[in-house]
Amino acid sequence: MPEQPVLRTMPAGAIELGDQLHRAVAEMASWMREYGDVAAHSSQDVPLSELEAATAELRHRLRDNYPFHHPRYAGQMLKPPHPAAVIGYVTAMLVNPNNHALDGGPATAAMEKDVVGQLAAMFGFPEAPGHLGHLTSSGTIANLEALFVARETHPGKAISHSADAHYTHARMAHLLGIEAVAVPTTADGTMDLDALDAVLGQGRVGTVVATTGTTGLGAVDPVHEIVPIARRHGVRVHVDAAYGGFFRLIADDQPGGVVAAPYLAIADCDSVVLDPHKHGLQPYGCGAVLFRDAGVAQHYLHDSPYTYFTSDDLHLGEISIECSRAGAVAAALWLTLRLLPLTADGLGAVLRPGRQAALDWAARIEAGDELRLYQPPQLDIVAYFPNRQRLSEVDAASAAALAAGMARPPAESLHLATYTVDGPALAARGHHLDLDVPTGRILRSVLMKPEHEAAVPELHRGLLGLVGRG
Ligand SMILES: *Cc1c(COP(=O)(O)O)cnc(C)c1O
Repeated sequence: MPEQPVLRTMPAGAIELGDQLHRAVAEMASWMREYGDVAAHSSQDVPLSELEAATAELRHRLRDNYPFHHPRYAGQMLKPPHPAAVIGYVTAMLVNPNNHALDGGPATAAMEKDVVGQLAAMFGFPEAPGHLGHLTSSGTIANLEALFVARETHPGKAISHSADAHYTHARMAHLLGIEAVAVPTTADGTMDLDALDAVLGQGRVGTVVATTGTTGLGAVDPVHEIVPIARRHGVRVHVDAAYGGFFRLIADDQPGGVVAAPYLAIADCDSVVLDPHKHGLQPYGCGAVLFRDAGVAQHYLHDSPYTYFTSDDLHLGEISIECSRAGAVAAALWLTLRLLPLTADGLGAVLRPGRQAALDWAARIEAGDELRLYQPPQLDIVAYFPNRQRLSEVDAASAAALAAGMARPPAESLHLATYTVDGPALAARGHHLDLDVPTGRILRSVLMKPEHEAAVPELHRGLLGLVGRG
């Protein structure tokens, strides 16, 4: 059988992506022409020679970047979007619908409801109109909305999150004028349940924030144990799954999968946030917030003379803190999920190799004595450090490895990230160093591209070359 032509990720799929974009522009222009000819106003004419000079400068300036697309970029949580997302985004952007209201673009508003329904189903939330949710410009804004609803449903009460939760929770609580109580974490970076029970016992907290995949280490809070504790105290549960939410697709305890129980318990929580612009293959500008009970819509009520809700159907601007939102974001996610659906074999198959890569690299790190594994990876983030006696030496060797890896010629470069730890956190994980300084940097790699799986041997060799014996 002849091989089917496919659209690959960049740069392998550059030709096919170019063809598809060409086609998108032509077809959207043809739709525009159905409305009759428009004489373009000369004020917006741009000479092609100037355009070429300007785009050449743009491309030149964009070379000042790190190779996020390459498996040897094993640093922060960054990668280019899937080409299908680019096609979806560009095609819709040519029209530029605004998902604030159905009147701003009925097609992309319908796509948004469709993808939000798929995300809700992934987490086991009730079908529409049972749940409520929409896309946001980021995980931060999505969490802001969830904490806003937390405040409205439990006025005067605090929120609590783990000490390793994303820093925006404390910041958003400050913005909302509510108290945020940090609960300590245990030796694996997850919320300490006894400490949580004690905090909730004081009666100040109205909503607890569980994180399924911390941004630093990918630690998954035990949502299945947090929910019964919270319920006993009459407290709501919000889940920050901004980073790790899509791991729900491989939450199956299989080799290469992730621990299932916390993910299954999200179905029992009050709200959840996830970032399709992290593991959902989207360009930046795509977060999502979902509420299990659509009744929270009452907290968003607003009315203004310049909005233009022309029907009684749900307009997404009625249930969002943000006003204008790009319809192109919904189109990009919709098109991506049409092709890589929210199943174990769809998007799950994109996440599993990165998880496998983390397990494999962690095993290699542990097998030698040049490096130490900070803690076993729960998702696809590995934290490790050069084996040295003093914390100051670990810090210096980590920083030197980061700098040296980036300084190599492009085809040999290795891009890592650092993560700051303190003495108690090291000791809790069984690392007994001379604590000659209170904190120090270790190394951290987010293995969020499926290509990372095959690259682990090369990554490990490169890393050993960078850390040497100090
Ligand atoms: C990334 C992240 C956020 C913030 O989301 P942005 O999209 O960067 O605003 C919040 N929580 C967690 C757990 C994250 O990983």
